[in-house]
Amino acid sequence: MTEAQTLSYCLNCNRSEEEMPLVSLRYANRQTWICSQCLPVLIHHPQRLVGKLDGADKIPPVPHNH
Ligand SMILES: [Zn+2]
Repeated sequence: MTEAQTLSYCLNCNRSEEEMPLVSLRYANRQTWICSQCLPVLIHHPQRLVGKLDGADKIPPVPHNH
């Protein structure tokens, strides 16, 4: 008996929800997932996700506020 259970994977590093906590994202009318380790990349360096996340080149990076 096979259940149609699909794992979710981080859009950046492709680790699954079994390896890392994944955070649900919605962007450009799509839902995707990113792991807690890659979340800072999305926040501060979204350009690094170009090619992995549609429209990543349009996301403004959040500046560091130290
Ligand atoms: Zn990741």
